[in-house]
Parts: sequence; C-alpha cells; structure tokens
Amino acid sequence: MSQLSLTQKFIKMLSSQQGFETIEKESKTWMIQCSNCKYEKSIWDMGGIRSGAKGNPKTYLKCPNCNQRNWHNIYKKEN
Ligand SMILES: [Zn+2]
Repeated sequence: MSQLSLTQKFIKMLSSQQGFETIEKESKTWMIQCSNCKYEKSIWDMGGIRSGAKGNPKTYLKCPNCNQRNWHNIYKKEN
C-alpha cells in the first residue's frame, strides 16, 4: 500500500470506500508526461487525482526526472 498524498487523503475522507477505489483506479489510467524528457507517471503516482474528466489538458509543473519546469501533457492511457 503506497502512501497517500494530502489531496488523496482529503478525497478519501469525502468519499465512500467504493467511490474512493473507483477514483484511485481512474486516476492511475491518467498519465502526466514531461514534454522535455518524455518521462511519464500516472497522476495517482504524482499524488493527484483525476476522475470523471475528459480531454487532454496540459499542466505546468516541475518534472521529477529532469528537474525542469515545463508543460506536461495529460492523457488517458488505454488499457
Ligand atoms: Zn522531464
């Protein structure tokens, strides 16, 4: 069992057990990819959540791999 981030703990508090498991599962299919080094990680592994969302937004953050601040693509990994 991995450690939950503050955001994830907060959501867990507001959700039912089953609802939280659904959010966790869905968040793990959403990937964040660095536009610089192409390193990717799921939103869940980054300590975030994403549920009931569509589209491929971008987010500006620091890459844990190359340590550069740049745009990251968010996309849903198809199973
Ligand atoms: Zn990077």
